Amino acid sequence: GREMILKIHARNKPIDSSVDFKNIARLTSGFSGADLENLLNEAAILAARNNRKRVTMTDITESINKVLMGPQKKSRIITENDKRITAYHESGHAIVGKVLTHCDVVQEVSIIPRGMAAGYTLSRPDKDEEHMSYNKLIDNITMMLGGRVAEEIFIKDVSTGASNDIERATKIARKMVTEWGMSAKLGAINFGSSNEVFLGRDYQNQVTYSEKTAAEIDSEIDKIIKSCYANAKKIITSRIKEMNTMVSVLLEKETIYFNEVELIMKGKTAKQVLSFMEKEEIRNKAKIEIERAEAELERAKKEQAIRIKTAEALKNGGVINNE
Ligand code: ZN
Repeated sequence: GREMILKIHARNKPIDSSVDFKNIARLTSGFSGADLENLLNEAAILAARNNRKRVTMTDITESINKVLMGPQKKSRIITENDKRITAYHESGHAIVGKVLTHCDVVQEVSIIPRGMAAGYTLSRPDKDEEHMSYNKLIDNITMMLGGRVAEEIFIKDVSTGASNDIERATKIARKMVTEWGMSAKLGAINFGSSNEVFLGRDYQNQVTYSEKTAAEIDSEIDKIIKSCYANAKKIITSRIKEMNTMVSVLLEKETIYFNEVELIMKGKTAKQVLSFMEKEEIRNKAKIEIERAEAELERAKKEQAIRIKTAEALKNGGVINNE
C-alpha cells in the first residue's frame, strides 16, 4: 500500500531512477498517506537545496530520518574524543542489534548529531508487526544497553550519553513486569503502575499492591535489565574486531548504511569497507553525470523537433522554400 501511495505522489516530481520505492515502503512502517506525501516533499526540497535536478535515494532516506529523529546538526562542534566515544557507543548498538535475531534491521549508523542525540543507530522493521513479543522486547532492551556496554569495554569509562537508552530500557522492563504479565514470578497481573488518580490537590499514583509486591516488582525489573546487560556484554566482547572496524569507518565517513554494516559483520577490514564506499560514491557520481547528459540530449532533441516543425509550417505557408 505504501509503495503505491509513494508512486502516486512521486508522479509529478523528478525522481532519480535509483530510487527504490519498495525499500522506502519498507523503511516507512507506520507512516500515514499524508506522512508519505510530506516525506517526498521534504526530499524534493532537500534535492533543490543541494542543486540536484532529481530526488535521490539519499534525499529520501535523509527525510525519513528527519521525520523520525529531527534534522542533522552538522554545524555542532564536536571534539575528537567525543566523536570516538559516540562511535563506540553507536557501534555497540549496531552490532548487538545485528547479532540479535528479534531486533529490527540496522539501516544506518551515524556519529553526526541529530536532535538531542550525539549520534544514532537507525533500525527499522522490514515488515509491519503490531505485536511486541517477549523475545523482541528483551532483544530491544539488550540493543539499547549495547551503547553503554561498548563505552564500558572500550573507553573504560561511561558517559551521560546513554541516559536516554537507560530510561527507555527501564520503562520497557517495568511495563513487561507490571502491565504485560511477562514476569514468571509475578504472573499475568496488572499492577496499575499508570493509574493516576486525583486526590484533593494533586495527582497521585494509586498503589494497589503491598510493599512486598513493590519490592518484587523492582527485583524483577532489575533481573531483566541485568540479564540483558550481561548478554550485550557477551555479544560485544566476542566481536572486538568488528567493533574496532566499525569505529574506524565511522570516524572516517561519519555515516554508514546497511551494506557497510553487512561487510563489517562478515569480517572485512576497515580498508576494504572504505574502498567499497569510495567505489560506490564514484559509481553514483558517474550515474548522476550520465543521467544529466541524457537529460541534456533529450532537451536538445525536443528543441530540434520544434525547429523542424516551425520550418515546415513556414515552408507550407510559402514563407520559405527548400533552399
Ligand atoms: Zn545510545
